[in-house]
Amino acid sequence: MMNLIKHDIKIDESFYKVEEIRHLTKETFSLKLPKARFPFKAGQHLSLGIHGDYQSREYSIYSSESDPNLEVLVKEIDHGYFTPKLRKLKAGDLVEVHGPFGKFGMEPLAAQTGKFVFIASGTGIAPFRSMVRTYPEIDYTLIHGVRYADESYDWQEYASDRYILCTSRDAKGTYQGRLTGYLINCTFAPETDFYLCGNSDMIFDALEILKQKGFEREQIHCEVYF
Ligand SMILES: Cc1cc2nc3c(=O)[nH]c(=O)nc-3n(C[C@H](O)[C@H](O)[C@H](O)COP(=O)(O)OP(=O)(O)OC[C@H]3O[C@@H](n4cnc5c(N)ncnc54)[C@H](O)[C@@H]3O)c2cc1C
Repeated sequence: MMNLIKHDIKIDESFYKVEEIRHLTKETFSLKLPKARFPFKAGQHLSLGIHGDYQSREYSIYSSESDPNLEVLVKEIDHGYFTPKLRKLKAGDLVEVHGPFGKFGMEPLAAQTGKFVFIASGTGIAPFRSMVRTYPEIDYTLIHGVRYADESYDWQEYASDRYILCTSRDAKGTYQGRLTGYLINCTFAPETDFYLCGNSDMIFDALEILKQKGFEREQIHCEVYF
């Protein structure tokens, strides 16, 4: 059933009430919404709009396929159009959600039998949290590149021997420096599947390193944020 409200915007099943905002750092927060009203696969993203605003942006789904809340992880961008507005939302405000979109992710059988390396910069960790929560038995290593160690969003959810934190501006991670500096010295099993998510510079550099290590392009899956 649809209701008409101000600005003649129809409130239908694509609108969700914000339930909670979890502030993870000064800039980064997660937005918790009611359970998704559509099925999705871990790794997919959605399009998010704010009620009354004409623009939308894409966000990877941060929650698992079966979590009781749909959740996204967002970094507020200085002088960005959308994220400063998202940051100001409060519990009870309405957002518009469309999706799911994208093919970033793996089939359930592959998740149970494969070997995975997840490579993320910043909030690019979002689809990997969804995968790890959806497939608790998955064999993965997560290499996460951030500036400061406090950007290791929800790090306690990952097994400590599977989560490698690379910090470029402090020495509080597993490795001090860019994640590509860590990656270059790694050895991986030939059958590994790689999933890369985040900014295009990191993805381009990581792709080159993996190609030089002899991995086929088909083994490398990418999700570019900007
Ligand atoms: C498939 C997909 C999934 C995405 N998932 C996420 C997600 O899970 N979490 C998330 O925070 N963002 C995600 N993004 C980025 C997001 O869609 C927006 O681009 C971002 O939130 C900035 O929006 P804005 O309107 O505030 O900035 P804009 O006004 O649109 O852009 C301002 C500038 O900021 C740059 N920019 C965008 N994102 C970043 C960033 N993280 N760090 C530094 N500069 C940036 C843009 O390239 C642009 O130059 C995703 C993008 C895509 C394509």
